[in-house]
Amino acid sequence: MIVDRIWSGNDYRNFHYLIACPESGEALAVDPLEWRLCHAEAKSRGWTITQILNTHEHRDHTGGNSGLVGATGAKVLAHADAASRIGGVDRGLKKGDVIKVGRTVELECLDTPGHTRAHICLFSHADQPALFCGDTLFNAGAGNCHGGGHPELLYDTFVNQLAQLPDATRVYPGHEYLARNLQFTLDREPDNRDAADLLERRGKDDPAASIVTTLADEKRINTCFRLHSPTVIARLREAFPDLGEHPEGRSVFIKLRELRNRW
Ligand SMILES: [Zn+2]
Ligand SMILES: [Zn+2]
Repeated sequence: MIVDRIWSGNDYRNFHYLIACPESGEALAVDPLEWRLCHAEAKSRGWTITQILNTHEHRDHTGGNSGLVGATGAKVLAHADAASRIGGVDRGLKKGDVIKVGRTVELECLDTPGHTRAHICLFSHADQPALFCGDTLFNAGAGNCHGGGHPELLYDTFVNQLAQLPDATRVYPGHEYLARNLQFTLDREPDNRDAADLLERRGKDDPAASIVTTLADEKRINTCFRLHSPTVIARLREAFPDLGEHPEGRSVFIKLRELRNRW
């Protein structure tokens, strides 16, 4: 499996991905809003885009479908429950479905509600596992819930699904928000050396060269995976005095999500 990350250069800070089979040259495009960039990149690598996958129904993920279908004839795949809102979907997906790309690539569909109620993440079980997580998980952050989702669902997705994947999983989110999210981590957890180091190492803003994190990295720098950190809890209790001394992970997650909304 070859993963080609394409920086959109747009104001939404989208990342697009081409997932290609090295043997057949067939490729799947994930959320190709700036579809001309994806089309040009595929051409330059000698690949044919045969499938488009939308992680969810938001326009900043689906807006390139018709252009790319027009240029390539690719089939559109999306969560079955989002298909009617997206339109033009050829294959509705549910949890556990497998998407094949060419002869060598298999991607498993995870049903990951929270950012929206019908959100798909793609997981690759390859030697180096990979997760294409749309607006569910960002580098050092999580998607918001005001576009049709719910923080309780997002918590369940994080704890019961994402946190259970292998630590070596490479994380491929739908947007580049790393610096801002690291600043939030440091606001919540000023003693988080990993977050401080990464923010410094990151240096000048060049999203096209932004690092690809693993889930092991995320567990160190992403407050959504650090619900039992004593510093996170102590700082949160300053903002929410009603939170007990030993709050449940669920309450911590929901309060963090709430704080991040207005931060
Ligand atoms: Zn979204
Ligand atoms: Zn988005």
